[in-house]
Amino acid sequence: MRHRAKARLFVEDDLGDGLTVGLAAAQAHYLQHVMRLGSGDMIALFNGRDGEWHARIDGFGRGWCSLVVEVQTRPQGTEPDIWLLFAPIKRARLDFLVQKAVELGASMLQPVMTHHTDVKRVNVERLRANVAEAAEQCERTTLPVVGEAQPLSTVLADWPAARRILLCAEAGPAQPIHHVLTADAASGSQADWAILTGPEGGFASSELDALGKLPFVTPVSLGPRILRAETAALSALVCWQSVLGDWHADRV
Ligand code: SAH
Repeated sequence: MRHRAKARLFVEDDLGDGLTVGLAAAQAHYLQHVMRLGSGDMIALFNGRDGEWHARIDGFGRGWCSLVVEVQTRPQGTEPDIWLLFAPIKRARLDFLVQKAVELGASMLQPVMTHHTDVKRVNVERLRANVAEAAEQCERTTLPVVGEAQPLSTVLADWPAARRILLCAEAGPAQPIHHVLTADAASGSQADWAILTGPEGGFASSELDALGKLPFVTPVSLGPRILRAETAALSALVCWQSVLGDWHADRV
């Protein structure tokens, strides 16, 4: 019986039997003063490459903690390859969007600046910290890539044509998202996918027109109501996971 680790942390270090891992101040403080752990206690570590390992706390010092890696408890997993392109929104709701997108298995988070995006700068380091924390909590062994914020036009300029974009279009012609996804599942196309959602102010009609003309873009509707940007992004992710992602596998 695998006894549950008392905490689970993302680290950059390589993980392997007998390796030593040193934690920086924030994580050391969390283990010692929040989780009240001490030498000899076991925690889980993952780095997005080597799976999940149990590591024993070797000792604490001022602002550091050292652990000895002992045993691999889970192999390195993979998530379905679903990218989320999203126009950034205000801070608290952006943190919520990013955290939930990690729980919903997004493999890539790409902030895109659109005509009506009213967020001037995106603190990617903060997003990456939120991502690591969400991955720790939801027990992923992978970490989504978080891209630097870029204009949507730049992202589309060198877009991998084999990857299709579900454009969440709040206006203009669009097919119900479920129809598009179930048709793709039935065709067995194995296409790679991305979801694209707009800012609080929505897409400009010129953006929707231009996007609709791209061969790899499929405008989809998320129903008759106008959803907030984070609701739309997460709803589209849920639809995708339940039809094309890893929600359709039986749990044995
Ligand atoms: N402020 C705009 C709506 C923006 S909603 C208005 O009031 O019209 C933010 C984003 O969520 C949109 O750009 C779109 O990507 C997505 N979205 C919201 N509701 C949607 C719907 N019913 N169908 C598809 N996408 C939707």
